[in-house]
Amino acid sequence: MISKRIKNMTPSATLEQSAKMAELKKQGIQVIGFNVGEPDFNTPINIIQKAEEAYQLGLTRYTPAAGMIELREEICKKFKKDYGLDYTPKDVVVSSGAKQSLTNVFMAIIDPGEEVIVPTPCWVSYVEMIKLAEGIPVLVSLDEKDGFRLDVDKIRKSITEKTKAIIINSPNNPTGAVYSEEDLRQLGQLAVEHDFYIISDEIYEKLIYDGERNICVAALSPAIKAKTITINGMSKAYAMTGWRIGYAVGPAQIIKAMTDYQGNTTTSPNTPAQYASIEALANSEGSVEIMRLEFYRRRKYIIDRINAIENIHCSTPKGAFYVMPNVSYFYGRKYKNFTVNNSLDMANYLLEEAKIAVVTGAAFEAPENIRISYSNSMDNIIEGMNRLEVALSKLK
Ligand code: PMP
Ligand code: GLU
Repeated sequence: MISKRIKNMTPSATLEQSAKMAELKKQGIQVIGFNVGEPDFNTPINIIQKAEEAYQLGLTRYTPAAGMIELREEICKKFKKDYGLDYTPKDVVVSSGAKQSLTNVFMAIIDPGEEVIVPTPCWVSYVEMIKLAEGIPVLVSLDEKDGFRLDVDKIRKSITEKTKAIIINSPNNPTGAVYSEEDLRQLGQLAVEHDFYIISDEIYEKLIYDGERNICVAALSPAIKAKTITINGMSKAYAMTGWRIGYAVGPAQIIKAMTDYQGNTTTSPNTPAQYASIEALANSEGSVEIMRLEFYRRRKYIIDRINAIENIHCSTPKGAFYVMPNVSYFYGRKYKNFTVNNSLDMANYLLEEAKIAVVTGAAFEAPENIRISYSNSMDNIIEGMNRLEVALSKLK
């Protein structure tokens, strides 16, 4: 029999959608994928060459559980260069993707019954990870009218004596929101005052537009740094989703606990991928900028198109590669035998009628919205927006 732990778990909606897409593709059905949560670019060639070099050099064995010392040193250099922060390799643990880094941190700090505040909309896996660690996710909904900004007053009201941490994600998946320095500073002060941790998932750090910049929470003050675990990884900035390298940086005691957990559950992350990640961090700024500019161009197009469609609207997010239009106007409307009553119905309707794949907002605690990823070619985006427009106009 299956454990209660897994029975109570909701499978990842984003990955389920990807599996569905792969199945349709195999059947020869052409669907435009706006569901994908990964860059559509190839990994830059200099990074690939380093992985090849790793195999030739015989870097094919385990590394220390926390990751190669050279990679952890490079991560420390990155934090110094980008944010003026001082870390040493004992403050860093490298994992098989940021997803594992996040699981590790919840397992390392949460005791059963302790609460973790999750501002919503939020990425699909946070709530499930917290539940797996026997913590209690406390959802705090952010306001679409304010562009889903971090509402620190609302967060303050959700603090109890059981609050152990908050998980934040800026730039945000699924909203694309980038939190302001002022809001993050207030959150940091709250964490220091009430003695809880900030787990800051900054994996979309490099994908920011309109002159905004990533505010690294740990850099706001030494006291805030002492309460912050930063999560990041290679997947989004360097188009390396399949390489599975992520990392966590924070207080050495917590990093050690995470490393101990990882040591017993997965040993170390993939060795050639770690070696290639050093190159990504050290020598890929140009490639990152080319990809960022391409995302920027697509974002402008897709927002203009969505906002030109009647009865659907979306704000202009400053980061990541997602937009999340509100589609609630269409709830209760139908076309032929299909009635759209919620965001899952809408995702299914668009897949069937328009052959475009989006992710239901409900999976991100945003029941009035759908998530559209613009990580797709401009040609596909143009065709996909045409199809979206036609399909929505049929719903009466
Ligand atoms: N955090 C967020 C917000 C994400 O969107 C993703 C994408 N899967 C991850 C973490 C995990 O990334 P990965 O495991 O590929 O490093
Ligand atoms: N983070 C991506 C997404 O939200 C990838 C899939 C996943 O890991 O959830 O779609």
